[in-house]
Amino acid sequence: MESTLDKNLLKEFYLDYGFQTRALHAGEHVLQPGKAISHANAIYQSSTFVFQNSQEGKELFSAKKDGYIYTRLGNPTTTVFEAKMNALEGKEVKMKDPDNTRVSSVAFASGMAAISSTALALLGNGDKVIRGDSLYGCTEDLFLTTLPKYGINAISVDTSDLEMFKQVMQENPDAKMVYFETPTNPTLKVTDIEALSKFAKSVNPDIYIVVDNTFCTPYLQRPLALGADVSLHSTTKYIGGHGVLIGGIAVTHRDAIKDKLYHMVKDLGGCPSPFDTWLANLGLKTLPLRMERICSNTRVIAHFLRNHNKVEYVYYPGFEDHPHYDVARKQMKDFGGMISFEVKGGYDAAVKLLDNIHIFSLAVSLGSVDSLIQHPASMTHATVPEEIRLKTGVTDGLIRISVGIEDVEDLLAALEKALELI
Ligand SMILES: *Cc1c(COP(=O)(O)O)cnc(C)c1O
Repeated sequence: MESTLDKNLLKEFYLDYGFQTRALHAGEHVLQPGKAISHANAIYQSSTFVFQNSQEGKELFSAKKDGYIYTRLGNPTTTVFEAKMNALEGKEVKMKDPDNTRVSSVAFASGMAAISSTALALLGNGDKVIRGDSLYGCTEDLFLTTLPKYGINAISVDTSDLEMFKQVMQENPDAKMVYFETPTNPTLKVTDIEALSKFAKSVNPDIYIVVDNTFCTPYLQRPLALGADVSLHSTTKYIGGHGVLIGGIAVTHRDAIKDKLYHMVKDLGGCPSPFDTWLANLGLKTLPLRMERICSNTRVIAHFLRNHNKVEYVYYPGFEDHPHYDVARKQMKDFGGMISFEVKGGYDAAVKLLDNIHIFSLAVSLGSVDSLIQHPASMTHATVPEEIRLKTGVTDGLIRISVGIEDVEDLLAALEKALELI
């Protein structure tokens, strides 16, 4: 059975408009032919959809007609969210070749559902992946333990080191996929998406380039325009933006990939709840405003921390002497809302700060309107073997913050007070 989602609805692009206008309007109001057209996206909290008659049911199932059958196969609330993501993530690729390029998104129940479904959609027994050496913990585990069970094996490389990547790519010209995050978590290394994609495709034109764009969102970085085939998000983070949902989405401009992704949501069943995609769509409307404030707060905090005598080192791609500053400037609109920093005094000092800081919530996750703080070595990266952990910069004194939209003076005061106690 083919996708019955209305292809025309997903074509809503608002190509002439800016990012904020698209974030507000793309996908809205296009799905409601009835008498009451709600101004805000409606929540279709229904498992199944009624057919007008048996002929219509037959046509929907044979994909002769577009429409809705059953929420795992598509839901109107979710379609609005997907259409808005198409407009935000895909404008540049669509503009290049408007007649032949269709950007599509498939929403999932979580970021991990989007990532694992993408891997299973595009890879099979015997396939090889070249993957970044610093990935979200569960993605790391997916490549280390789950996918090998199905004969899919990955080679790990620091993709921010382009020369090293090129060497690995040349040694593995049959690799089926390159998978990475940029900037990485928690030490914020930046990979040149355009240069990497260009090289990988010069070696193997059929290779899939898949980028986890969670840390940036389409507001800061659009991987498809830089040569990637799939841009993935945990919408739990900046896209939802308020810490109230778990969700994921995969965006692509390759029709064949979209069909494979849709097949996975059908067969593996990682479909999102309409309520969660409703929240994610609401989150997108203020994404530009939130990201602007988050990025400017982050810049101020990064410089404050760097000049503090209790702080050993600060990771932030917006410093001019960050090893990947030029790449970050080239491919990102701003430098994001994540900072990691190492306090002097190791574990004891880090814990002192975490247990005494105001305003920042001691919690994992990221991308909320309010600021979060956590200790990677004992929390998000606790399962990484110590030797690898230390090699990748996740020391016992390392603290990661996800900066929110609070008044920056209050965040600085909170950090200053907690640092004083060390
Ligand atoms: C949180 C996160 C994920 C996983 O997303 P879930 O929504 O928690 O499943 C994947 N990648 C990155 C970069 C993340 O931060």
